[in-house]
Amino acid sequence: MRRLFFKTLSMLTTVVILVSVVAVAALAGTARLRAGKWALPNREDLSVLVKEVVTYEEPQPSKTIYLDREALQVMGAPDNAAKNQSSLVAPGQSFLVPRYKASNANWQRLLGCVQSKFAGYDVRITDQRPASGDYILVKVGGTPASIGMAGKPLGGIAPFNGFAVPNAIVFAFDQGGQMRTQNNCQTIAHEVGHVYGLDHSYQCKDIMSYQQCGPKHFVDEPMACGEHEARPCEDQSHSQNSADDLLRMLGARRPNAASLASRR
Ligand SMILES: [Zn+2]
Repeated sequence: MRRLFFKTLSMLTTVVILVSVVAVAALAGTARLRAGKWALPNREDLSVLVKEVVTYEEPQPSKTIYLDREALQVMGAPDNAAKNQSSLVAPGQSFLVPRYKASNANWQRLLGCVQSKFAGYDVRITDQRPASGDYILVKVGGTPASIGMAGKPLGGIAPFNGFAVPNAIVFAFDQGGQMRTQNNCQTIAHEVGHVYGLDHSYQCKDIMSYQQCGPKHFVDEPMACGEHEARPCEDQSHSQNSADDLLRMLGARRPNAASLASRR
């Protein structure tokens, strides 16, 4: 659906160019005709047009997801994970989001859980900060108040525009309690789903849904969008297939050398 949107845009652009070429040819032709110097439109006419053409490109998704459990100083600015800048923080403000307080064993369980949610996709989940390249930073820990959103009942928050948001910072607050690992894991996967363009779905088992009914995964079937009732999806379509949309966004996981060797 979204690819179609961009295809339509580029087709529209093509149509606009063609129409403009004809228009300029006609205008130039009229002027030259009036001046008695009519000629076919030349290269200069075209290069003026080319400068005016806007090219629409779908943003490429970041293929690394970095889970950060350390305290993090975030600044309000357009998303830039490498610079600790988040569009979710008020511009110019800065907050120190506290460390995720859990044992190493607990953290490893959380990391493993998030990896399992994205196991089928070509994306790397790590708790080591990448030295270069683009990546999504998931700041785990703290509360909504940690980023200036006190009183908001949020498990987490992420930037969302229906397309990929590369280099984004996502927040997954520590929800504590008995189901701590499962809840925090699902929140992380849900918020990351948003930066890959997924809307809320209205199907309990899906990670992108608000309903509670035990462990969730990215469901592979068409689902209505919605929070507490069904509504059309953000891209105006009537359904979303979370698993399939993610697959198209990220591609399927490629088997690594070790698992290839073991299959021989
Ligand atoms: Zn959400």
